[in-house]
Amino acid sequence: MIKVCKFGGTSMADGVNMARIRSILDRDPARRYIVVSAPGKRYSGDTKVTDLLYETARDVKERGHVGDAYAKVCERFQSIAHELGLTLDADALLSECARDIERENSAEFAASRGEYLAGRFMAEYLGVPFLDARDIVRFTANGRLDACTYGLVREALKGIPKAVVAGFYGADGEGNIRTFTRGGSDVSGAVVARAVHADVYENWTDVSGFLACDPRIVPSPAGISALSYKELRELSYMGANVLHSEAIFPVREADIPIRIKNTFRPDDEGTVILPSSRYRPRARPVTGIAGMKNFTVIFLEKSLMNAEIGFAYRVLEVLLRHNISFEHMPSGIDTMSFVIESGQLEGGLLDTVCEEIRAAVAPDRMNVFSDVALIAVVGHGMSRNVGIAARLFAAIARTGVNVRMIDQGSSELNIIVGVDNENYERTMRAVYEEFFKN
Ligand code: ASP
Repeated sequence: MIKVCKFGGTSMADGVNMARIRSILDRDPARRYIVVSAPGKRYSGDTKVTDLLYETARDVKERGHVGDAYAKVCERFQSIAHELGLTLDADALLSECARDIERENSAEFAASRGEYLAGRFMAEYLGVPFLDARDIVRFTANGRLDACTYGLVREALKGIPKAVVAGFYGADGEGNIRTFTRGGSDVSGAVVARAVHADVYENWTDVSGFLACDPRIVPSPAGISALSYKELRELSYMGANVLHSEAIFPVREADIPIRIKNTFRPDDEGTVILPSSRYRPRARPVTGIAGMKNFTVIFLEKSLMNAEIGFAYRVLEVLLRHNISFEHMPSGIDTMSFVIESGQLEGGLLDTVCEEIRAAVAPDRMNVFSDVALIAVVGHGMSRNVGIAARLFAAIARTGVNVRMIDQGSSELNIIVGVDNENYERTMRAVYEEFFKN
């Protein structure tokens, strides 16, 4: 049994938390490969080491040398070394990193040093080898993960019973350090899990897994004990953020489950994310509800639209011309709507797009609704259950909210409901009540 464990920024925030990690690892010998983030916030209002390092990169660009931000990075690592009683020469390591950051003069390089140092410290503390991601995680020239990484990681870990790998970064073919997008140590963990054919990818964070609804809207919502990769994709794209969205792909392809665990409550079960083939939906038809505000809906109506060849194509051409992506495209026989994140239409672009659509397809009617919120009701259980949509819309109707748009994914895995921004919270609560309190 091999478990790959990734520990996030809060779990790595200080020496006390890193000691918690050691006891988590001691409890289970299958926890063999550890992927670490840079130290995150110790308390609200604190600054993440990664943010200090981006600031350091700006200092180097402007003045040619590291400044106050790097001094704070040093303090963080020095106190970790002190708390853990490490014997490595932290000062020498930190000075060497400062020189490297000044020489490389690259934001990605500077940011990567958080994970590099965290990995070095953790490996020393656990008494296991440290693997520099620079040597084993390969990026393509355009910043994507190169598939040769899996072979490199597998080779490097062959015969090594336990090791620490730095998350978040790697190097391109020329040896330049590259990073994933923010929160990318989740991706590194998934990559290592796949490379070593792990039985499970444990992602240790500061929450006990996914919740069925946003806790800022519904107080103490139910936890989700299991969900499928597909459900996770729908929920995280609609704002349920526990895991980096790209972390799913490496492990999903290799059929490896992800378990989200809480470093601060290690006995909590957390959430397991399973490939659809292994996932058994529970009695509850809805697994989770997520949502986001601020979408714009462009609604078009034209008689005999269904017979007009290329109608949608011509509208999409307008969006393409302006590099605008759309989220959903619900349609009726003579109607079609395009749901677009409003931020993409700022600065007068909405008017331009509407004019161009009018010129391209001459609709009989065109309405624009701004300030629309989308709510995704997600669950495999919905597809075999009669009457779920009826319950959903009856619950929304009872709160007196007008539904602006409905879209059901063809897999019947989700129903998306559009309401006015101002009704977002009310609707979320009503839907949660209906499916989780009854
Ligand atoms: N340290 C990086 C960040 O703050 C990556 C990570 O923690 O996953 O974004």
